[in-house]
Amino acid sequence: MLAQAARNLDVACRFYADSSDVPGATMGTVISGSLDDDAQLARFADGLDVVTYEWENVPVSAARRIEEFTPVLPPVRALEAAADRLAEKRFFAGLGVPAARFAPVDSREALDDAVAAIGFPAVLKTRRLGYDGKGQAVLRQQADLDAAWDAVGGSPLLLEEWVSFDRELSVIGVRGRDGSITCYPPIENQHHAGILRVSTAPAPGLTAEIMAAAARCVTRALTALDYVGVLAVELFDVGGRLLVNEMAPRVHNSGHLTIEGAVTSQFENHVRAILGLPLGDAGVRGFACMVNIIGDLPPVSEVLAIPGAHLHLYGKSPRPGRKLGHVTVCADTLAQAHQLRGRVEAIAGEPA
Ligand code: AMP
Repeated sequence: MLAQAARNLDVACRFYADSSDVPGATMGTVISGSLDDDAQLARFADGLDVVTYEWENVPVSAARRIEEFTPVLPPVRALEAAADRLAEKRFFAGLGVPAARFAPVDSREALDDAVAAIGFPAVLKTRRLGYDGKGQAVLRQQADLDAAWDAVGGSPLLLEEWVSFDRELSVIGVRGRDGSITCYPPIENQHHAGILRVSTAPAPGLTAEIMAAAARCVTRALTALDYVGVLAVELFDVGGRLLVNEMAPRVHNSGHLTIEGAVTSQFENHVRAILGLPLGDAGVRGFACMVNIIGDLPPVSEVLAIPGAHLHLYGKSPRPGRKLGHVTVCADTLAQAHQLRGRVEAIAGEPA
């Protein structure tokens, strides 16, 4: 989707992936190699104007290797901050952005101390390589500690206070090379089995306070990191008060609906930002809902028979729990958008 936006601006793309059989292969040259293959990374970077990433688990060492030849945007320090949940929590705390209480856990004894400080319920998370709820264990009582430790105890951890949120939101901001910043209105996200299933934009019932708090959160992070590109921040809404959950230094799944639901998509704005071009309007057009296609492919003609449905298939083979594409529906009212979304959900596969 980034490459599609780039192509509209007559910008050619080259991709680095672990195999040549990736969706990007239809959009440009693929250099395949591992992220610790310095020679291959150098071949990839040779002659490029800028390198970006859309996966936050790119090792910092790989990004630094590429930086020897070509600018990497968003800056590597953003990758570094987002790759470690503890560094991320400390980063947001330093910005004065509210978040759930947390404590580092590096040993079984430290887990007892952290539980004593934070209380139940709490969630124990791996500091690195966690996504979509993987590498997490919920602690409700003392008896849960041993099993949780056995499940995730092999790596550095973080204990977080459990947040009884009303809903999950994301806010997507973009910062240009000249420091200009634009934010999309907050998006409401619903997960099933830890995987994003439905996003709605603008999030229903947005107040001026929520809009301002979300914009403040992403703007502070963009500025502090001297960021260039799209940054997504995931938030918990607790009775109108926002707590930051985590950030993703990349285009975000919840922002896929900006392709049809905003004046300028997150993908085009990311490309514009990293190329030093003026940013586009992040305003929305009416209401948009996005449904992820997970696990199974739906009958294409049934999806396309839904009025206003935009189908995006990624060319991936079906596998339980795998995101294979998404459908966005746009409407003038929230009620219409939700009605159309219901029709999409009924046929767009079920999360594993
Ligand atoms: P994460 O990988 O940290 O984004 O967590 C995945 C999902 O787990 C989130 O989208 C939330 O639904 C849930 N979650 C994570 N942390 C917490 C928390 N501290 N309190 C409540 N739910 C959480």
